[in-house]
Amino acid sequence: MTPLLELRNVSKAYMRGVFGRERFVALQGVDLALDEARPTIIAIAGESGSGKSTLGLLVLGLLQPTEGVVLYRGKAVSTLRGADYQRFRREVQAVFQDPFAVFNPFYKVDHLLQVPIEKFKLARSRHEARRMMEDALQAVGLRPEEVLGRYPHQLSGGQRQRIAVARALVLKPRLLVADEPVSMVDASLRAAILESLRRMRDEHGISILYITHDLTTAYHVADSILVLYAGRVVEAGEVERVIRAPKHPYTQLLIDSIPWPDVTQPWGSKPLAKREGERASVGSGCRFAPRCPSAMPHCWQRVPPLYRLAPEHVVACYLYESEQAAQADIARA
Ligand code: ADP
Ligand code: MG
Repeated sequence: MTPLLELRNVSKAYMRGVFGRERFVALQGVDLALDEARPTIIAIAGESGSGKSTLGLLVLGLLQPTEGVVLYRGKAVSTLRGADYQRFRREVQAVFQDPFAVFNPFYKVDHLLQVPIEKFKLARSRHEARRMMEDALQAVGLRPEEVLGRYPHQLSGGQRQRIAVARALVLKPRLLVADEPVSMVDASLRAAILESLRRMRDEHGISILYITHDLTTAYHVADSILVLYAGRVVEAGEVERVIRAPKHPYTQLLIDSIPWPDVTQPWGSKPLAKREGERASVGSGCRFAPRCPSAMPHCWQRVPPLYRLAPEHVVACYLYESEQAAQADIARA
């Protein structure tokens, strides 16, 4: 069956520098697939600058890949036209870190929710539109009478963020790209917003790309996780496996730095080490080699491929070269 979303070997390079002549690779060779029949929350995790938002923008069609292709229902997002494009625009929604930045402060909450309903002609009457708004607000745990008729600045950060989620929900999307949706919200409200994401998956069958620098929230909300380091996937798989038994030295380092078991503590606000300069020095090898406690000579020469350790667990590290061969033997036996 055709996946809902598929990324095939997607890379993105930005041109930087004073004359825009310096090529900076923000994302390299990412593969990903989401199945509509199995709604999934997949966390895209990594430190600041690892390429997470770039990945989200590529999925939303707001950036074009330099290499590879992003497919929605089997068609390249960059070439969608007409009815296909309209469908994509409705079915793929986004929630960003600071909804205040995208909400016009002069409009009441009602208006914010009404615009998408009108734009996509989803309601046949004012009454129906009103009911859709109320349903969406209730789905994210807000009481309509509490928020309708109010302006964004009259609401708390947590309420605003839930309205952003409700606004996406009104369109009955199939895919939500949520880029750091709780990083500006108080810890006490974080759980409620994450809970509304889970309900979107369970009750509405919506798949979610949950972008975060915080492994603790990823662990709580996601089914699977993709860990990025300097634009490359270093490890991916079922969240329980990856967080409880991380294989890549980088993932291990990240998880060791989490203040378990106090999962309410935000994590990852301080970078582990300086990185930009290192990238250049790595040349053709593994990007993590300069910081890796297990680096071997060939790590500096070639980027490790993704080795499959289990059906739902891959890791890009030469330490597992032989383990994959062993797994393959077991499969054959
Ligand atoms: P993250 O969301 O993980 O913090 P981003 O995807 O925003 O990472 O950025 C990845 C890298 O690409 C960063 O080093 C960032 O500085 C760079 N970058 C992002 N957007 C641009 C842009 N428009 N032009 C040039 N460089 C960019
Ligand atoms: Mg980002």
